[in-house]
Amino acid sequence: MPRIELEAVAASRGLALGRARVVYPTHFEVEVEPIAPKDVPAELARFSAALDSAKRELATLKAKLKGVLARDVAEFIDAHAMMLDDPDLAEGVAERIRKGNLRATAALKAHRDRLAAAFDAIDDPYLRSRREDLDQVVARVFAALMRGAAQAKPRSRDEAATILVCETIAPADLGHWHDNGMVGAVFAGGSAFSHSVILARSMRMPVVVGASDILSRVRDGDMVLVDAEGGHVIVSPDALDLTRLRQHQRDAKRTQRLLARLKTAETVTTDGAEIELHVNAEQASEIAAARRLGAAGVGLFRTEFLYMHHGEVPGEEEQFKAYRDAVLAMAGRPVTLRTLDLGADKAVGSGLDLAPEPNPALGLRGVRLSLARRPLFTTQLRAMLRASAYGPVRILLPMITSVGEVRLARNLLASARESLVNAGVPVAESVELGGMIEVPAAALVSAELARELDFLAIGSNDLVQYTLAADRNNAAVSATYDPLHPAVLRLLALVIENAQRAHRPVSLCGELAGDPRFVPVLIALGLTEFSMHPNAILQVRDVVLKLSRKSLRAKAKRLLEATERDEIEDLFEE
Ligand code: PEP
Ligand code: MG
Repeated sequence: MPRIELEAVAASRGLALGRARVVYPTHFEVEVEPIAPKDVPAELARFSAALDSAKRELATLKAKLKGVLARDVAEFIDAHAMMLDDPDLAEGVAERIRKGNLRATAALKAHRDRLAAAFDAIDDPYLRSRREDLDQVVARVFAALMRGAAQAKPRSRDEAATILVCETIAPADLGHWHDNGMVGAVFAGGSAFSHSVILARSMRMPVVVGASDILSRVRDGDMVLVDAEGGHVIVSPDALDLTRLRQHQRDAKRTQRLLARLKTAETVTTDGAEIELHVNAEQASEIAAARRLGAAGVGLFRTEFLYMHHGEVPGEEEQFKAYRDAVLAMAGRPVTLRTLDLGADKAVGSGLDLAPEPNPALGLRGVRLSLARRPLFTTQLRAMLRASAYGPVRILLPMITSVGEVRLARNLLASARESLVNAGVPVAESVELGGMIEVPAAALVSAELARELDFLAIGSNDLVQYTLAADRNNAAVSATYDPLHPAVLRLLALVIENAQRAHRPVSLCGELAGDPRFVPVLIALGLTEFSMHPNAILQVRDVVLKLSRKSLRAKAKRLLEATERDEIEDLFEE
């Protein structure tokens, strides 16, 4: 068979070679013919049996889990089980069967379409990717309804070195394939923000997504090379590809060995400047891993996760326990808790009752929502303040635009604190309040913001998107979404300078911080605090150890005058 190379998006890095195991999407037959009213009870019973069967399937998958990743996979299974338990699903579908005399498959499809439309309207890539979870859960119930049309499973234990090729896959099933010899995966659809990809990253398993033609170009048993470094899939790789793979394997081994030694190393440049590396985290397991990697602290704890997984607003006690555990896990190193960064349609599944907005990216999101929903905000602030009694906590406000918002938030924080203290609840003497610089307006008034706040954190994912008016999740404008655009670099330099003038710490916690290619640029702009995915810490530390801060700072002026990407690249190759 001739060599075929297909473009894809590298989602979980690395290279993997194996035999393709193709799982074609199951096309569910929706039974469109309505039923007679007398058959409604039987159809309701059929649906209810299918729901139970899907739940049992998840429970069985969970019971079979083993190994170090068992807990991570179990979390995803629980999230799906919770969606199955949601009364809105059971009741919503049952009502369609009753009122519309629909068959269960038609009612399930109609219900799924309504939820999917809500998910599609979400402008946040992470939350929008939860649509995949919805489809996976619905597919499981469909399969149960069609009896026997269950998802393909690994054939046998000796199906070693399998490259799974499919549309997308539920995290629970990914865990199952992993336990049975899967070494990499190619998804025809999917997003780099999906739960399955997050899981694959913690398994260190190479995955590419968006390989749209793959299902028609590969057959079971074909040799497939997943190149999740360059973003390609190669079917029937040639000798040159295999040489490249072997070289990559040798390099990866050497790098892992070298990086492992860096766990306890200080992060200093060749000229002795200390660079602080913090982690971004969403759950306690990541925080424990971060401490082992010698992270200076948690630079960003995204609290949305707590809300999204539960389908209802978590109470003060539940939030307090999650934040306290994060603080305990860092054992004295600071934990930066970001207040809720949801809004408008992005709150689907969070239990927040919000009206849809015509342009959610520019709508009631981040701190705007918190300030509009005082009781919600106060509950979160109280939980965070209570956690501060257990170790250093910093509170971070997302999406701030003005000084007025900060003042309002600070007043609410002071009131929350006062009422806790009056009630005799332990709270730390001081809890720093910071703000995220994610919109150009905030960057332009960062001098004033720095005076009002105790620290600044640059959210470059959003800052790039809002500065360049390019959706961070829209592949059609990915070339416009350029973190090295002079406008972005000038805003970054301005924020860093303003923070330093006001003697306020400033960090950067967008994806740029964990990308070794951008580390020299950020140090040249004066940044000394980075916050990134835990997997990136050792690699970034390795890069920092080889850089001279002084010589990078000397390039700042030319960097800020550069108008072309080539000029910038040349500057850092000198
Ligand atoms: C950012 O915008 O850079 C950021 C860190 O926040 P999030 O990715 O959660 O929007
Ligand atoms: Mg952001």
